[in-house]
Amino acid sequence: MLGAKEAPVVMVGSDALEVERRLRAGELSCPCGGGLSPWGHARQRSVRGVGDLRPRRARCGSCLVSHVLVAVSCLLRRADGVDVIGAALRAKASGAGHRPIAVWLDRPISTVRGWLRAFGRNAETARSMFTALLVQLDPLTGPLPAHPGVMADAVEAIGACAAAARRRLGPVGAVSAWQLAAAVTSGRLLAPALWSVSINTSRPLGNAG
Ligand SMILES: [Zn+2]
Repeated sequence: MLGAKEAPVVMVGSDALEVERRLRAGELSCPCGGGLSPWGHARQRSVRGVGDLRPRRARCGSCLVSHVLVAVSCLLRRADGVDVIGAALRAKASGAGHRPIAVWLDRPISTVRGWLRAFGRNAETARSMFTALLVQLDPLTGPLPAHPGVMADAVEAIGACAAAARRRLGPVGAVSAWQLAAAVTSGRLLAPALWSVSINTSRPLGNAG
């Protein structure tokens, strides 16, 4: 799904006006550290639970790479917002099956099954990724409770990271646990090869916080 032609993305906050202001003010930065400036728009898409989006493109003045600015309320190539998908993952971690979750969230069964399978494939990577991030955010944190399944362990680690981020950054940097997961994984929480995503543990929210 993520071919070589996939445009690099930079995760940003979900307030489009604020993103535009920050972009024009030169406050958004490229993963390389350079400054980003406006560079047109990506194709419009509709994300259920979020609305119609016309993502901004931006170009780095240092490495000259152009990036799509993706809101932390979204995951790459998913038609539903990350908070809806996260609610499904949390329900699965609590033992619910895909059919009742689909009814509860009013989404097609096949869609929900797709989320759960994709997350299942990434669960071990996500568990270790977010456990490492948790130690960075809160070095004094104790071990997380272990669950019967690795998906539940991964969900637990994501929730613990969000709680630690709130403790550390305060309400200003507060995003939901799932928006944090989107930011940290560059929107690839459910994408193939999550293991290849490098996370920035020193600034987990990147441009989104
Ligand atoms: Zn750059």
